[in-house]
Amino acid sequence: KNYVNGVLKESDMILNASATINLKLPEGGSNNAVLVKNLYLSCDPYMRTRMTKLEDSYFEAFAPGSPIAGYGVAKVLDSRHPKFKKGDLVWGVTGWEEYSIISPPKILFKIQHTDMPLSYYTGILGMPGMAAYVGFYEICAPKIGECVFVSAAAGAVGQLIGQFAKLSGCYVVGSASTKEKVDLLKNKLGFDEAFNYMEEQDMNEALKRYFPNGIDIYFDNVGGKMLEAVLPNMRTNGRISACGMISQYNNLKLQAEVACNLFLMVTKSLNMQGFMVNDYFHMYPKFMEIIMPLIKQGKICYIEDFAEGLENAPAALVGLFSGKNVGKQLVVVARE
Ligand code: NDP
Repeated sequence: KNYVNGVLKESDMILNASATINLKLPEGGSNNAVLVKNLYLSCDPYMRTRMTKLEDSYFEAFAPGSPIAGYGVAKVLDSRHPKFKKGDLVWGVTGWEEYSIISPPKILFKIQHTDMPLSYYTGILGMPGMAAYVGFYEICAPKIGECVFVSAAAGAVGQLIGQFAKLSGCYVVGSASTKEKVDLLKNKLGFDEAFNYMEEQDMNEALKRYFPNGIDIYFDNVGGKMLEAVLPNMRTNGRISACGMISQYNNLKLQAEVACNLFLMVTKSLNMQGFMVNDYFHMYPKFMEIIMPLIKQGKICYIEDFAEGLENAPAALVGLFSGKNVGKQLVVVARE
């Protein structure tokens, strides 16, 4: 019933049972409403930032006590919206509940390719996939032979960055928090190298080991101390895609206190660009043209981490902040 303070805990979320379920939209409601049955829900780090009321935040804070809103995959049961009809499969912003009335559906897309696993639309074929595509290709403009580093490399976005980097002819190294993830990056996802950042005493030294000649592209998923360690290791004219800063989300006020060595941006002529994937959804059709053949031809490997049932959703979301997830974390509410 309150905004969240500090580290997100399972007990910050409660599961409510509703007595009646009406599988038709109620009479007299909005003309744009869509009633959906939720199938898969996406656990995304930014959701934590909506649990605290912040001034000048891009996202509106969740209203305490109301269902969490987030990306998911759903089936339309009833619709008064001209773009959706009963039976459609959709992905976009829905609620963390079994059934949701989405009114108006501001971010909701009809799934055109139902021959793909539907869960993919919470990840590789949805918002995180788009973020990887935009953040790597549009923002970093990779060139053959360049050296790429990606943090949170075994997560939803990170696993794709490593593979995009290899497809672009780059050398790529990823960091993650366990041996299991490091092995996965090297042996299954095709990274050239990977290391467990938790085991490194000196991050600067670790980066020098893997990038003796410096980093051309840093895909930043974590911010904080890792970003500080990366900056001195960037090459002149390097690019940093500021995709996310998960190390800060449990205490966003901390950001003001992190004294990043940003003067290096000047002396190394670096280009660091943040982006919000929602601003690039117009590129979704182009992205699908590129990603679908890569998946179908087996040129991209995609790893998912399923939590079964809404009752396990809080633990799944909390787990993102201690690296429990291997690959894309999502919640199965119903399979059809
Ligand atoms: P992931 O699947 O990568 O899950 C989060 C991972 O972050 C964890 O598994 C953990 O992996 C790592 N992590 C957690 N806490 C810390 C910490 N304190 N320091 C370092 N690493 C930590 O999540 P996503 O792929 O969905 O998201 C990755 C990033 O991209 C996030 O910052 C997210 O906010 C951002 N994002 C931004 C978008 C945009 O529009 N700009 C869109 C989508 C995502 P590990 O084992 O490596 O510790």
